[in-house]
Amino acid sequence: MPSRETDAGTLPDVAAGRVDAAEIERNFSDLHPPLTKSAALIAADRCYFCYAAPCTTACPTGIDIPRFIQSIRSGDLEGSARAILSENIMGGMCARVCPTEVLCEQACVRNVHEDKPVDIGLLQRHATDPFIASGTQLFGRAAPSGKRVAVVGGGPAGLSCAHRLACLGHAVTIVSRDGKLGGLNEYGIAAYKTVDDFAQREVGYILAIGGIEVRTGVALGRDLTLAQLRRQFDAVFLAIGLAGTRRLGLGSEDLPGVVDAVAYIAQMRQAEDKTRLPVGRRTVVIGGGMTAIDIAVQSKRLGAEDMTIVYRRGPRQMGASSLEQDLARRNGVRIRHWARPTRLLGDAHVTGVEFQCTRAGDDGKLEGTGESFTLDADVVFRAIGQEVSWNELGDAAALEVEGGRIVVDANRRTSLEDVWAGGDCVHDGQDLTVTAVQDGKLAAQAIDNYLGSNRREDHE
Ligand SMILES: Cc1cc2nc3c(=O)[nH]c(=O)nc-3n(C[C@H](O)[C@H](O)[C@H](O)COP(=O)(O)OP(=O)(O)OC[C@H]3O[C@@H](n4cnc5c(N)ncnc54)[C@H](O)[C@@H]3O)c2cc1C
Ligand code: SF4
Repeated sequence: MPSRETDAGTLPDVAAGRVDAAEIERNFSDLHPPLTKSAALIAADRCYFCYAAPCTTACPTGIDIPRFIQSIRSGDLEGSARAILSENIMGGMCARVCPTEVLCEQACVRNVHEDKPVDIGLLQRHATDPFIASGTQLFGRAAPSGKRVAVVGGGPAGLSCAHRLACLGHAVTIVSRDGKLGGLNEYGIAAYKTVDDFAQREVGYILAIGGIEVRTGVALGRDLTLAQLRRQFDAVFLAIGLAGTRRLGLGSEDLPGVVDAVAYIAQMRQAEDKTRLPVGRRTVVIGGGMTAIDIAVQSKRLGAEDMTIVYRRGPRQMGASSLEQDLARRNGVRIRHWARPTRLLGDAHVTGVEFQCTRAGDDGKLEGTGESFTLDADVVFRAIGQEVSWNELGDAAALEVEGGRIVVDANRRTSLEDVWAGGDCVHDGQDLTVTAVQDGKLAAQAIDNYLGSNRREDHE
């Protein structure tokens, strides 16, 4: 992702090699290692196999969780993987990255009796990993429909849509800006959540269904227009994610040392040798979501010494779950709530940030308390959110948009009859891998209906 390279590393007190290769390997090993077979059977035994299971309702892709766990118990791993992948073809990645503590596992009835849910995410990984590893395909393709669909974007939403459309017999072309498919699974998710190049192995598994042509390094708005795609294809699915990052809105934001967190994470995810990644001694992260936690924890694991996340509201308003916040604290990251940046300090490069203390006013709006403080910093990471880069998208900018994102209906159809959209780029999304996968699946079903093909009810 060359456009996202950062300049950290040419600054005083910003250096590579703060920890050695052995420690880096330990620090970036699997955050939640896989279950052994016996541990999986014990975990599966804790499921009550609830009728109208609340965990299934809480899963954005609606995986029949009691069914897949029952299959593990009875030794039918293929049946289990089928139950998962038929609803969520990226069930392997979701098992690693879903914030289960606020999704399926939060809804688990075991929480009431024992304060500990069934390990749904780990069981899902146990069931799916062998099939991704062996490349065993569990689904076939319907007879060719003669219809062609363009999928713009190769992240979770695009891949999920492409796979389902291919199963339904359509010819799919994925056009994607980055050099590799996978979207933020490849360039964004924390390295210790997806080790051993799992993102690319999963992409390989998805493409192996057949019928999907891939054109990487091709960007909508730069290399082709939406009008061209609409002419050349029977339908279009837009899954372009959020390519832009929000700025702090302060002067001096281009000072060396003020770094876009998403860009740095992308650089880190693609680095062959992490000991060569530059990190500061004193780092400040501004933001409160997963990106803020991920950049803080990963920088700490690369050897950054003093690390503070500053968020403008309280712990409950943070986008990162309490589990993620605990992970940061366990890694030596300080989190300071109720403060917002007012000034970046430094002339040749950043040396610190001035903050104003905040509180929620009577109307809930954020207001200053009149107090302030300063934090010294060699590196300041901006992690206050991403947005669609409308100025780079050419004629796609004519789509109906709200809050900067594409407006879609319940079937993910946009304001244009033959164009659908899903994942982070659409309005009201939750900005999670699993919701992007669900959007891709729903859009594929809707596109199939629109194309009027002889869709098979069940693609198994
Ligand atoms: C740092 C970070 C950590 C995260 N951690 C988690 C996590 O732990 N768990 C979780 O569930 N979610 C996490 N998320 C959110 C999750 O990664 C996203 O919600 C998900 O990837 C969205 O999928 P998508 O397909 O909509 O977009 P993306 O994954 O962003 O993919 C967009 C695709 O579109 C392509 N593209 C972009 N612009 C164009 C263009 N103009 N023309 C053609 N192609 C284009 C890109 O190359 C890419 O392939 C994280 C996000 C970030 C930033
Ligand atoms: S996809 Fe995510 S939310 Fe759904 S069951 Fe699996 S781990 Fe839970």
